[in-house]
Amino acid sequence: MNVATATTRQLESYVKGQWVTGKGDGTLLTDAGTGEPVAVISSSGLDFAGALAYGREKGGSALRAMSFHERALMLKSIALMLNEARDDFYAESYRTGATKTDSMIDIDGGIGTFFVYASKGRRELPNTRVLLDGDVEPLSKDQSFSAQHILTPLTGVAIHINAFNFPCWGMLEKLAPTLLAGMPAIVKPASQTAYLTEMMVRRIIDSGILPEGALQLVAGSAGDMLDHVTGQDVVTFTGSASTGRMLRTHKAIVDNSTRFSMEADSLNSSILGADAGPGTPEFDLFVKEVAREMTAKAGQKCTAIRRAFVPRGQVDAVIEALRARLGKTAVGLPAEEGTRMGALASQDQRAEVRARIAELAADGEIVAGDPDNPVLASGDAQAGAFLNPVLLHCADPHGAQHVHDVEAFGPVATVMPYDDAEEAVALARKGKGSLAASVFTNDPEIAERIVIGMAPFHGRILIGNRDSAKSSTGHGSPMPGLVHGGPGRAGGGEELGGIRGVKHFMQRTAVQGTPRLLAPVTGRWMEGADAGDTSVHPFRKSLAELKIGDQVVTAPREVTLADIEHFAEFTGDTFYAHMDEDAAKANPFFDGRVAHGYLIVSFAAGMFVDPAPGPVLANYGVDNLRFLTPVYPGDVLKVRLTAKEINPRATADHGEVRWDAQVTNQDGDVVAQYDVLTMVAKQWPLPAEG
Ligand code: NDP
Repeated sequence: MNVATATTRQLESYVKGQWVTGKGDGTLLTDAGTGEPVAVISSSGLDFAGALAYGREKGGSALRAMSFHERALMLKSIALMLNEARDDFYAESYRTGATKTDSMIDIDGGIGTFFVYASKGRRELPNTRVLLDGDVEPLSKDQSFSAQHILTPLTGVAIHINAFNFPCWGMLEKLAPTLLAGMPAIVKPASQTAYLTEMMVRRIIDSGILPEGALQLVAGSAGDMLDHVTGQDVVTFTGSASTGRMLRTHKAIVDNSTRFSMEADSLNSSILGADAGPGTPEFDLFVKEVAREMTAKAGQKCTAIRRAFVPRGQVDAVIEALRARLGKTAVGLPAEEGTRMGALASQDQRAEVRARIAELAADGEIVAGDPDNPVLASGDAQAGAFLNPVLLHCADPHGAQHVHDVEAFGPVATVMPYDDAEEAVALARKGKGSLAASVFTNDPEIAERIVIGMAPFHGRILIGNRDSAKSSTGHGSPMPGLVHGGPGRAGGGEELGGIRGVKHFMQRTAVQGTPRLLAPVTGRWMEGADAGDTSVHPFRKSLAELKIGDQVVTAPREVTLADIEHFAEFTGDTFYAHMDEDAAKANPFFDGRVAHGYLIVSFAAGMFVDPAPGPVLANYGVDNLRFLTPVYPGDVLKVRLTAKEINPRATADHGEVRWDAQVTNQDGDVVAQYDVLTMVAKQWPLPAEG
């Protein structure tokens, strides 16, 4: 038995601005491949209530004072810094049993998630502290009473309780949306691999990029931390269903309605389409993917394929192909050159997986791999937590239950037959809700039937075929822009999904009131709010001078038949409604020839523009364009252009301005309504270059 020595590293927690060690002897953590001591961990005696209070007060207030763009830039700086330190993380990662390729998923995948949120935060969020959700809801005819949903960061702490399998990605994928939302976090990694998380947190803290209190680390057990949660805190959990259930019903979480998100066991399936027989690219892709999912991270992936459903006639061919592929998987010490699959995270984990394989075997037979006698390319089968990939075959998936219930969290999958697409869907659903599924087919009808059938039971579904083979990110890879989580057994949680994930750490509030008072709350001008300055054309104002509500109302302009004909001839748009009086009249929407919608928008631009060089640098699009009333020859148009939203860029000399453009006719009817999007300089004249 390995024991800690005087030199064994003692992991530290980072709480209340200090690195501290827990009291007592602690628990020894060993190298997954060699069994050698790595570190000792203990959180005994930590002031958990104090840590929560510190996070809320110190970290929360600092983060909330920053805008989305400032927080996004902070994420980018952290990602760049972590990228520089990758080699150190890789070296440490071998101790968890991970090969270099496994570490890429964990380390680069985690850092990549930070990069994606850094970029999405600046591209998809405004440079504000309040996020608007949806459009204004008018609640009165005279526009004296409206509503807008807003999102503001929760004022508590996000407690992230993570699993052992992804010590880096598991932390970073939750941390990125949390910090971008403006919420501080306390990370509690699974003890088994916490040394790698600790190393990464240390780099983040040492970099000084984060405001103090924004990130704390608990190395060791969670102690009484959850007793102190409030309704403003968030708890996320990844791990076993039994622990998750226990935490979800924790008294303080229930009493305070604390937001709780869970990602637990998941019996993910992959289906080989009936069209994809041996010799087709889809057959090969399916076999490759099942084998890859079994062996990447030694199968210790929450999204790994556990159940492979195959047309009855293809079962033997699939088993044969998988057996051949898995037989070539060199299992051994993760740092060795030729190793394709490393060790499980610990001896306990291996014992656990062996016990689960025994349960699964009661439903069928093992057709590849001997769980009790590892065949290794390197390493010691006793000292290291090694296991060869184990493939099972279950001939009666309807009668069997373990196979749809038991998650062997290792390199284990079961092949099962099905007869038609409906049956394949019904079998996949027996998993009672999973994180990810895949279907390998080149047939659009099969893709539709299987995907629509499985969708209510899954958070993500991959369709694999020859066209996407080269660019596909694969069955098992959660992507930062896509939701990660699943219903039912998978925990019912949802993470990532781009900006969706940020909103999990914010409160949505419907704010009702008169537009004049709503506009300053939401940071966006709305119909019914006062106009600001109308004395100076707003295109003459730099961002430093422009205010929401600043407005110009143009002189009128008549639209003539000659204008319509000129526009038609010039652009080639001679659609009958503009050119043929009788045909236009026969159209249920028109009383005769009408002006082109794009003519109206073009005229509007000509009417509201202030043409001289000035702070408005470029027009980069329009949003929400609607033509609401037809324009006939002789109608007289007017435009009202109002500064609606102002977003200065954090790292540029300009910002974006969204303008409300409303075109009306001589009767005051709204003819066209849209948002004009422009880039406007922060200062005018522009600062001299160099
Ligand atoms: P656990 O559920 O035991 O642990 C998950 C996390 O919860 C760890 O950080 C753990 O901390 C923490 N935890 C455990 N007990 C408590 C508690 N009372 N209060 C607060 N936190 C607690 O799962 P494991 O990591 O040990 O994995 C066990 C099994 O879970 C695997 O074999 C696998 O079947 C499944 N699993 C599923 C995953 C998925 O995403 N589907 C991912 C990982 C595991 P500590 O380590 O310090 O005990």
